[in-house]
Amino acid sequence: MSDIFTSPIYSVSDDGSGIARCDGYTVFVKGAVIGDECKIEITKRNKTYGFGRILEVVKPSPSRVEPICPQFKECGGCTLLHTDYETQLKIKRETVYNALTRIGGFENIVVHETTPSVPNLNYRNKSQYPVGGTARDIKIGFYAPRSHNVVNSEFCAIENPDARIILNAFREWMAKYKIAPYNEEKHIGTIRHIYSRAGESIMIVIVSRTREIEHLDELKEMLLSLNTSKPIGGIVVNINSQKTNTILGKYDYTIYGEKFIYAKIDNITYKVNYKSFFQVNPYTTNLLYKKALELCNLTGSETVFDLYCGIGTISLFLAQNAKKVIGVEIVPEAIEDAKENAKLNSISNAEFYCGAAETVCPALIKTGEKADIVVVDPPRKGCDEVLLQAIGKMKPEKIVYVSCNVATLARDAKILHEKYGYELNESFPFDQFPHSMHVEAVSALSLS
Ligand code: SAH
Repeated sequence: MSDIFTSPIYSVSDDGSGIARCDGYTVFVKGAVIGDECKIEITKRNKTYGFGRILEVVKPSPSRVEPICPQFKECGGCTLLHTDYETQLKIKRETVYNALTRIGGFENIVVHETTPSVPNLNYRNKSQYPVGGTARDIKIGFYAPRSHNVVNSEFCAIENPDARIILNAFREWMAKYKIAPYNEEKHIGTIRHIYSRAGESIMIVIVSRTREIEHLDELKEMLLSLNTSKPIGGIVVNINSQKTNTILGKYDYTIYGEKFIYAKIDNITYKVNYKSFFQVNPYTTNLLYKKALELCNLTGSETVFDLYCGIGTISLFLAQNAKKVIGVEIVPEAIEDAKENAKLNSISNAEFYCGAAETVCPALIKTGEKADIVVVDPPRKGCDEVLLQAIGKMKPEKIVYVSCNVATLARDAKILHEKYGYELNESFPFDQFPHSMHVEAVSALSLS
């Protein structure tokens, strides 16, 4: 087989690479768009597939667009920025369909059209920029793909414009006072990450290796005088003195305001601690939650479990139409927020428990709780099998599965189908993460 070949790009892989074929051999090609025809050089061969690079786009795909980010290739965040938005939505729908049919084995599944994000640029309410380089040459931006070298971000198509204003202020402050960025290799220096999250106000978190940071007062002054579209509600120093890839450390202190923001989704106001999970795309989140609520089809007499409930986002949506909601979540700060959020919105039929869903849910069942409907919204690794077993044996009429990783959704749905008799007939993809390959999907599993 020659190392150079020409092939159409048939589909897209999980990391956004185009998939080409050379005499039946699959080759993944970075930067290729579905529908392109490319001249490709194979750069690496494995037994059943290989990797290639584009030598020439012989015939560009009608879906190909000029990526609006000058760092598109360097960053690796928005892997679909060279593909028009309509096509991105189709790709995501197909991703859900393929996972549910191929991994899940569901043959007659209807996967609906992907609900778009409007707008699909500058949508993120949360930004986290690693800090690196040296005190003379500070870099704040993103890690180069497959490395921990920090590259300066010049532009970002999906960040909140306020996050950029904040990032620039940090650059100015660090340069002016020669603040040492964190050096991961030597584990020296100070500032590790800059994190901001926006709701009705903005909170800024400075992740530092050291407790003490020089010229913090000057930084505070600078941040509070910024012309952001929303007021700064809090500035927190989070101390992460460990040699670790985890961004946040355990301890923190506030130098201004609060450690949380308020954010509104539909008619509910949520208090969100900076350590708690919160959906990053405010434009699609309410649509996603409404779909989950619609699929629950509540009449007001049901007990609902909301597992992996975070700050009680979905729980409080459900509580308005259910008899009782029980939320379970592993992060203590998130559960504190959830309890307060119920009070804040005068919702009295929601209870929250802190712990792993796979431990707390079976324990609740043992004490006599029974859910008519279960909502799960696990992280990318999906549900623990112990949890699926507990749910399956409890036999709720319906399980509404909110997923950010269709491979684990398909795996878990298959278990619920084969072992406990649940049917999965339809799934609704949502574009929570435009320009990336990530897709969120809401699906209902019912007892047939
Ligand atoms: N439903 C919420 C949160 C979804 S994200 C929302 O939409 O806002 C997934 C959540 O699961 C996170 O809050 C994470 O902290 C939590 N989590 C992770 N592993 C868990 C486990 N084993 N048991 C319970 N919660 C867990």
